[in-house]
Amino acid sequence: MPRFPTKQATDSVSELSEDMGINSEQMMVRDARRFYRHLGPRGQVALSQSPLTLFIAIVVVSAPWAWPGLLENAFFVATIAFHAAIFLACFLVPWERLRPNLWLVIPLLDLFALFLTRTASLNVIPGLALLVMFPVIWLSASGLHARTSIVISIVGPLVISLPALVQHLPNPTPSDITSLLVLPLMMLAISLAIHFASANIRLHQKRIEQKDKRLGELLAESRDRERLLNAILDTVDVGIVALGPDGTTLLTNTKQESFNKAAATQAGGSVADEPRQLLFSQDRHSPLPAEKRPLRRAANGENFANYLVWMGQGPGQRAFFTASRGMDPEADDGFGGAVVVYSDVTDVIEALTAKEELVSNVSHEFGSPLTSILGNLDLVLSNPEGIGPAALDRLEVAQRNAERLRALVSDLLLSASAVLNVRPRQTDLAGLIHNSVGSAQAQADAANVQLVTDVPVPLWASADPLRMAQALDNVVSNAIKYSPNGGVVTVSAATKGDRVQVQVKDTGMGLNPDDAAKIFTRFYRSGAARKAAIPGAGLGLSITKTILERHGGSITCDSTPGKGSTFTLTLPVSTATAET
Ligand code: ADP
Repeated sequence: MPRFPTKQATDSVSELSEDMGINSEQMMVRDARRFYRHLGPRGQVALSQSPLTLFIAIVVVSAPWAWPGLLENAFFVATIAFHAAIFLACFLVPWERLRPNLWLVIPLLDLFALFLTRTASLNVIPGLALLVMFPVIWLSASGLHARTSIVISIVGPLVISLPALVQHLPNPTPSDITSLLVLPLMMLAISLAIHFASANIRLHQKRIEQKDKRLGELLAESRDRERLLNAILDTVDVGIVALGPDGTTLLTNTKQESFNKAAATQAGGSVADEPRQLLFSQDRHSPLPAEKRPLRRAANGENFANYLVWMGQGPGQRAFFTASRGMDPEADDGFGGAVVVYSDVTDVIEALTAKEELVSNVSHEFGSPLTSILGNLDLVLSNPEGIGPAALDRLEVAQRNAERLRALVSDLLLSASAVLNVRPRQTDLAGLIHNSVGSAQAQADAANVQLVTDVPVPLWASADPLRMAQALDNVVSNAIKYSPNGGVVTVSAATKGDRVQVQVKDTGMGLNPDDAAKIFTRFYRSGAARKAAIPGAGLGLSITKTILERHGGSITCDSTPGKGSTFTLTLPVSTATAET
């Protein structure tokens, strides 16, 4: 299975969180809220009640030392029992089954219990009234019944402060009046602050939840895409390797993993492993140099296609067309990663080789009988005495056709041979062109075609005289052959920089763009040529193209149907620029 690096996925998630502005503080708030929710109703009520209970417990435990005799006050002890009962209720009451928010009765009971406790310890622990802040905080933070909780936050402390004032009536102390005013105001301030803070937290929470949701959706989307991509990668019949900008392998599909098994001894399929893979060049035997291996070429930023390599050895050796395409051509340092594709073309290559072998063998087998036929015809025709004129005519027809057959067989042999030897040297192309035009003169006369040459003398080029003569003969004789209604064939040549250009222009039948693009393919003949029954095998131009390319040159065709064609042959001027 193709794998995507986990680190990158994690990085992208945290980057996404940062992009969305979720900071660690907000994460803590979110985690705290999650923990609170996780506690369930009983746990939540008990947790909210525990600060007050803890303080009451501290008062009770420290009472024998701090306030001796207080625990002998039955009223005080009863109020403590009341507090304990409230705390127990937090655990015992099945809050989850009751109406939501009914637990708010607990802070209300707390206020009442504190009123009683404060009244019972009025002159002993005046500061006990401050404990009122716990139920006030709880009520305010609940976020429910905002107005009610604010009113309770004022009324509760007011009521708790009243007994002290009442006790000193008609002469209340300044401290009684102060605590009557300050405590409710303090609690109001606390309540308001908590309301604002919790509203703010709720807002943040909502934002975080929305971001969480979006993050979840993006992750799900990316997982879906990953699944789809994996399915596609494992379905296609080609091997795929994706390289990162640093040349490391980002992913490899299953097909490629199986190819690697054929190519590797114990090596994996990365750029670093590639030198140890069994990779061979076109001849199937020479190991491919490290810098010519597909992954290395791709990692070096090369884009290529139809690059043939052989993988493995022995009967299991397979041929692959490899191709590489850069992922981000605009990357700063020039290489932004690449995708390398391997397609197994062993069957095609083997079929082509078998076909070429067959053509080559058949052509070869034709050679000996043809030589014998032509030899015997030559002997008979060189001494025609005793042969009647009709028989002589037929023998000459047989000789012409045997010659054609020999030309065809030689073309077939040439096109089937893997190596077409070309040995370029400084050659006067003008001489070759004049020879070629001279030999085509008879054909031109018979076809009513006028031959014109416009070639500077001498015209030096890096050319193999034998092969270039063959190429020129092909193009000139085609120009005459495909001008069935006569016309003009002009052969011109000129040196352009380090290249020599020869143009063979005719006013013949021409080619449509579709045909013009295919005529250099072996055995291809235009529909018009076949329709006009012009003899030919479709091999001449493919051989001509090979000859030109072996010289480091090229051949192109520019044609208009019904108006004529121009074939342009380009050659290097000197051997130094030839790429043979
Ligand atoms: P052949 O001439 O034996 O068929 P070639 O390879 O020389 O084979 O040419 C391939 C095809 O290209 C021809 O069959 C013909 O259709 C087309 N062709 C070649 N030269 C010309 C030309 N000068 N004008 C028109 N068509 C041409």
